[in-house]
Amino acid sequence: FNEVPTGYPEPGKTTVYDDSQTIDLESVPLNGGVLVKILVVSVDPYLRGKMRDSSVKSYSAAFVIGEPIFNFGVGVVLRSENPSVKAGDHLYGHYPFQHYVVLPNIDSFRVLKNEENLPWAAYVGVVGMPGQTAWVGWYEFAAPQKGDVVFVTAGSGPVGSFVIQLAKLHGHKVIASAGSEDKVEFIKKIGADVAFNYKTTSTWDVLEREGPVNIYWDNVGGETLDAALQHSAKGARFIECGMISQYNSAPYTVQNLMAIVRNELHLHGFIVGSHLPKYRDEFYREVPGKIARGEIQYIEDAKKGLEWAGHAILDVQQGRNHGKSVVIVSEE
Ligand code: NDP
Repeated sequence: FNEVPTGYPEPGKTTVYDDSQTIDLESVPLNGGVLVKILVVSVDPYLRGKMRDSSVKSYSAAFVIGEPIFNFGVGVVLRSENPSVKAGDHLYGHYPFQHYVVLPNIDSFRVLKNEENLPWAAYVGVVGMPGQTAWVGWYEFAAPQKGDVVFVTAGSGPVGSFVIQLAKLHGHKVIASAGSEDKVEFIKKIGADVAFNYKTTSTWDVLEREGPVNIYWDNVGGETLDAALQHSAKGARFIECGMISQYNSAPYTVQNLMAIVRNELHLHGFIVGSHLPKYRDEFYREVPGKIARGEIQYIEDAKKGLEWAGHAILDVQQGRNHGKSVVIVSEE
């Protein structure tokens, strides 16, 4: 991490790739820890929020200038002095964006069994934090009723596309938006009843025609939230998952707040980690199988090589990713 950005994070400026340090894999001391070769790291929208002045408090720790950025990833154990894992085991958890790392302890890591033989990258996407976000948010807050109309934004990404499919599994009418024609094609393919490109079609008009909305899954905030408020049904649930339209620019002032009172809305902001302990076991029991059987589909946008991480981060903020953004650090 090189510098706090003011607008979009720029590769080569906000973050720099540095390959000057080397490590001797045979002799690096483990001191009771584990040497891991990192295979894949996840690129998520919230990384932008970590690129802030460290004095500004938030729900997730700020990156430290001069140190590697970090996020969820999967790595394979090369050497271990920890009796709970052995060479060849795969670990999911928080990694620095590096090729190799010595982990002094692995208490916060999960050993992946991967009985379904999914690609390791799936474990940072649909079977990782974004999939958990969709699962936790839906089951904790959606309170779906028969006949509910569901509106999902950023519908082609790992969170939105999962939510669309959960809503369809529960038999709801789903309206979903995305920012390009091929993303719209994908969200139709996974079952959205009404799919539109919010850049070329007015969200307001679509909701006027297809609403009112009983469950709004908010990934974007801003004007779209405003349109959803105005077209909300009585007692609607607003699942406030993210507001990416606000991450890189001056805040938008929402106009239709009175709808919260008028329609007796339930607003649920949440951070996945707060609810995960309640859902984790169920998630890992249910979801890998659903992915393997094709019951939940996803698309992935993989960049090969850590040197592309900065570009991947910018692409996600600007909507150029097509599906879950990952960086393949090493092939196994
Ligand atoms: P995606 O892979 O869908 O990537 C983000 C997408 O947001 C972009 O591809 C783009 O798609 C869309 N986007 C970017 N800028 C704008 C804009 N100005 N207006 C509208 N859409 C925009 O991301 P994820 O599925 O990983 O995450 C989706 C949301 O969920 C994010 O807001 C994220 O912060 C949030 N989140 C929240 C968590 C929580 O615990 N609350 C945990 C994980 C994610 P398009 O081309 O369609 O515009």
